[in-house]
Amino acid sequence: MDNCLFCKIIKKEIPKEFDYESENLVVFPDINPSADSHLLIVPKKHIGGVEELSQDNKDLLAEIYETANALVKKKNLQNSLYRIVVNGGKAQHVPHLHFHFLGGQWKKMV
Ligand code: AMP
Ligand code: ZN
Repeated sequence: MDNCLFCKIIKKEIPKEFDYESENLVVFPDINPSADSHLLIVPKKHIGGVEELSQDNKDLLAEIYETANALVKKKNLQNSLYRIVVNGGKAQHVPHLHFHFLGGQWKKMV
């Protein structure tokens, strides 16, 4: 989508270092972190909100949660506090489905 910030990041029109990238998603740090570790897991395909999801997205959603699982382990948060916040609605700031991964010391709530 032309005027979408995350689409621009994914198309590399806005420079951003990815912590992880696959064929279907990217992971990069939130620019205004709410916790010690605040990453965004973002599907490459522009999905405006959960109402656009269908059975066709089953594999993508599984990969997103597998990625979150891997991040918990990579950051050794298995026995600590962490949160996954899904923003896939019309009230969020960036209207492109994304998953906040938050761990460690909290600064503020997302
Ligand atoms: P929301 O759509 O409400 O989840 O808010 C968008 C999130 O994207 C906020 O947490 C912002 O700090 C974050 N954000 C906005 N612009 C950038 C950027 N250029 N790079 C990384 N994160 C961003
Ligand atoms: Zn987008």
